[in-house]
Amino acid sequence: MNTHLEDNYRHKGLRKQLVDALRDKGIDDEVVLAAIKEVPRHVFLDSSFVELAYQDKAFPIGSGQTISQPSTVAFQTQLLGLEKGMKVLEIGTGSGYQACVLAAMGAKVFSIERQRNLYFKTKEVLEQLPFRVKTFLGDGFEGLPTYAPFDRVIITAGAPTLPETLIAQMKTGGIMVIPMDHADSEGQTMLRIKKLEDGSLKTEEFGNFKFVPMLKELGRD
Ligand code: SAH
Repeated sequence: MNTHLEDNYRHKGLRKQLVDALRDKGIDDEVVLAAIKEVPRHVFLDSSFVELAYQDKAFPIGSGQTISQPSTVAFQTQLLGLEKGMKVLEIGTGSGYQACVLAAMGAKVFSIERQRNLYFKTKEVLEQLPFRVKTFLGDGFEGLPTYAPFDRVIITAGAPTLPETLIAQMKTGGIMVIPMDHADSEGQTMLRIKKLEDGSLKTEEFGNFKFVPMLKELGRD
């Protein structure tokens, strides 16, 4: 049971400061910023981190995983070019924070997590929040054929290769935002990949990031 779901004026004030900090870092999509302002990030963290929840930092969320830094969440979300009502597939539910930011923007969110413990822990938190997110325990490399095609795909773990299965589950005109492992060093390059009319892909690069790895098959730890 999560014991810190309360969202008080102090939390709201800290969130407003976080939004200002993100603006200073170049996030200028007002719809994204409004979602960051709306979603209480502290409820996704273990209670020992609550005081730090609105700093622009990544934190451990158990099972060796992390909640992404708010500026990374905002940056990836901004790249998605999301519109209300769109179907979005997220790989790496983690804490559920990114998924709730997408849901706060009016997206229909489908999110996959491979770590069993994290999946159940996050499901319980999400059930107590007003954001509608469908979560699945599974291997993100497989996507969700039953719910495809998607307008948008967001990958929140470092991908070793381009998951072709997920490209296939994207609509024409669809966009994928994916941190792709560097060939010869640690970290990832953020890519925005658009599926064009003729089925070909247009790829753009947006700088370097550091994510936990996207791993195959289910994890139990
Ligand atoms: N979006 C998350 C960030 C999670 S970190 C948040 O907002 O908190 C990345 C997550 O991806 C981890 O929870 C990790 O377990 C998960 N992951 C890694 N490989 C995966 C895969 N193949 N399928 C689904 N989830 C995966």
